[in-house]
Amino acid sequence: MNKENYQGIWVYIEHAGGHVLHVGLELLHAARELKEVTGEELTAVVIADRTEDLVEQIRPYGADRILAVDCPQCREYSTDAYTQLLYDLIGEFRPSAVLVGATENGRDFAPRVACRLKTGLTADCTALGIDEETGDVAWTRPAFGGNLMATILCSNTRPQIGTVRPGVFRAEQSGRTEQVVHLDRTVPPSSIRTQIKELIHREGSPFRIAEAEIIVSGGRGMKGPENFSMLQELADLLGGVVGASRAAVDSGWIDSSHQVGQTGSTVHPKLYIACGISGAIQHLAGMSGSDQIVAINQDPDAPIFKVAHYGLVGDLFEIVPALIEEVKAMQA
Ligand SMILES: Cc1cc2nc3c(=O)[nH]c(=O)nc-3n(C[C@H](O)[C@H](O)[C@H](O)COP(=O)(O)OP(=O)(O)OC[C@H]3O[C@@H](n4cnc5c(N)ncnc54)[C@H](O)[C@@H]3O)c2cc1C
Repeated sequence: MNKENYQGIWVYIEHAGGHVLHVGLELLHAARELKEVTGEELTAVVIADRTEDLVEQIRPYGADRILAVDCPQCREYSTDAYTQLLYDLIGEFRPSAVLVGATENGRDFAPRVACRLKTGLTADCTALGIDEETGDVAWTRPAFGGNLMATILCSNTRPQIGTVRPGVFRAEQSGRTEQVVHLDRTVPPSSIRTQIKELIHREGSPFRIAEAEIIVSGGRGMKGPENFSMLQELADLLGGVVGASRAAVDSGWIDSSHQVGQTGSTVHPKLYIACGISGAIQHLAGMSGSDQIVAINQDPDAPIFKVAHYGLVGDLFEIVPALIEEVKAMQA
């Protein structure tokens, strides 16, 4: 394979309910940093039955161009249709690298595309760079159950494909994209092997901790599931959501979608309040990029205090209720 025939960095922009998902915008920011090293063109790729409104949402995020693919079979996500379309587009435009959010859909179709193209895919990345020697994308992800971080290069084939966890990068607006390439495509019916008969939407909006601006998190120090209501009350007052350490999740006190850390979500909120969390390295890996960290722990030597901007040493069962009263008084 002649690698020179493949040029450009693509970011696949996922959407749901007429809105682009944050992770795609985060990846545009990450890809701009890669582009600064390689000098390649950055393309945002969006596929939908109608892409017009989605294009407007993508424009402020600094891609060099937007590839907007209208396909009548893409009213809802379809594994077969999206796999086929992206496979065809890559064959036609030959990008050097393709970044996809490690969402349920991204994890579903990206490996299928890679497999059809007989190229490599690095799944669930938590950092991206460019290898100085080869110029290949350096995809970093936890390996061996999260006990070490592996950096993987796709040296022999193109394109290089990777899925990247939501929340790892910040989405930042950066210059309006003027160049939009509109394509109308259909997928041969024979390529679509599954039919969606009915979509049942979960009530309320899906819980996406990676997008929260304020997180009140609880660990083993919460002592039991019943005490998480206290954290929920504080989070509600502050307009935030509840997070958790793996110890709390493994104890069955709270759903795993709330877990922050190496094997949970990576978060960058404006405010992260850690209650009864010791600050193990795997937890810090997911939250140390928060703008402001407040730690509440009765152990003055707890490692969480090393990353905290404000530390409260004491019993959380006294401090959290006092905080709740204080916030209520401020809001009265
Ligand atoms: C491969 C791998 C991946 C992992 N991934 C993750 C991950 O994604 N996320 C994650 O969180 N962990 C992860 N872990 C687990 C991690 O190593 C720790 O075991 C876990 O983070 C500990 O959770 P914790 O801080 O809640 O519990 P502990 O370490 O037990 O800490 C509890 C803290 O609560 C304090 N405390 C107790 N009572 C009170 C009180 N009344 N008031 C105030 N403070 C109190 C204690 O002083 C203590 O510091 C992973 C581990 C491995 C090996």
